[in-house]
Amino acid sequence: MYDIIVVGGGPAGMTAAIYARRASKSVLVLEALSCGGQILNTPDIENYPVEAHISGFDFSQKVYEQAKSLGAEFKFEKAVELKDEGDGKVVVTNKGEHRAKAVILATGSANRKLGVEDEDKLVGRGVSYCATCDGNFYRKKTVAVVGGGNTALEDALYLADLCQKVYLIHRRDSFRGDDTNAERLKARENVEIVYNANVTKLIAEKKLKAIEVTDKNTGDVRTIELNGLFVAVGRVPENNNFANLIDLDSSGYAASGEDCHTRTPGVFVAGDNRAKTLRQLVTATADGAMAATEAVKFVNER
Ligand code: NAP
Repeated sequence: MYDIIVVGGGPAGMTAAIYARRASKSVLVLEALSCGGQILNTPDIENYPVEAHISGFDFSQKVYEQAKSLGAEFKFEKAVELKDEGDGKVVVTNKGEHRAKAVILATGSANRKLGVEDEDKLVGRGVSYCATCDGNFYRKKTVAVVGGGNTALEDALYLADLCQKVYLIHRRDSFRGDDTNAERLKARENVEIVYNANVTKLIAEKKLKAIEVTDKNTGDVRTIELNGLFVAVGRVPENNNFANLIDLDSSGYAASGEDCHTRTPGVFVAGDNRAKTLRQLVTATADGAMAATEAVKFVNER
């Protein structure tokens, strides 16, 4: 049995592993895909102390190496269930089961889908959720971004530098994202903003070749021919597999205070899947430190 299992190898989870190892606890980190999580998609981090510029990939590699060098164990498995057996917790994964005295859930969040027919089928064939990862494939082509938050605005600005034409499709007539970004976009000649509209159909042969957008007020349908559609309509916390042991708020975030406790003793939450007001790299790592400190205390007091 491990002292602590950390579910999720993003910045919160890996920081938790560092803190737990520094307290001499045995630690297993379970990561479903690649360590780093969402920050892997960020080309340039410039708001995290120490380095003025670092890519999300390099940042993740460094934290991973740091956690490994301190003795944290990593396994690439997806946690699908959590069981409380009193004196221990069992994390069930797609490959087996692992036991620990305490568990930190640092599962982050996943891309929210648009929910249009064939969206999943067309991922990698015209539909993308990451402009910085896939934008280069659409150099000098026509693309659309859907959403009105900072991610959508920043994605549209990024793509406007690469693509011939960028449509920004938003379901309202004002943006949730910052005015500065919105004003920058409005000044770009190759950007067309389509307000009050929803993407209602994806038209494809082998690849996506057009979309239909429906005006929310008039019901008018417009067809836009394009090569790529970037969906940036927010994220959903990845807590559902653990809802038997933790409380969720109305948006699915784990209800917990700054101490990262949940309603189940020995189960803690850290990072973007926790209910909080600011979701940034620095708050994720802060959560990791806090959750690990509380988990260590729990293990020591057992
Ligand atoms: P977000 O702020 O939640 O925005 C999501 C956007 O998608 C909203 O405009 C929303 O419309 C729209 N939307 C949601 N569901 C939709 C649907 N089914 N169909 C069409 N549109 C839909 O998400 P985000 O942009 O990913 O940002 C997440 C957080 O990270 C925010 O706090 C943001 O400020 C932050 N962030 C910061 C930076 C930065 O500081 N540089 C960069 C990126 C993100 P409504 O507005 O109508 O709800």
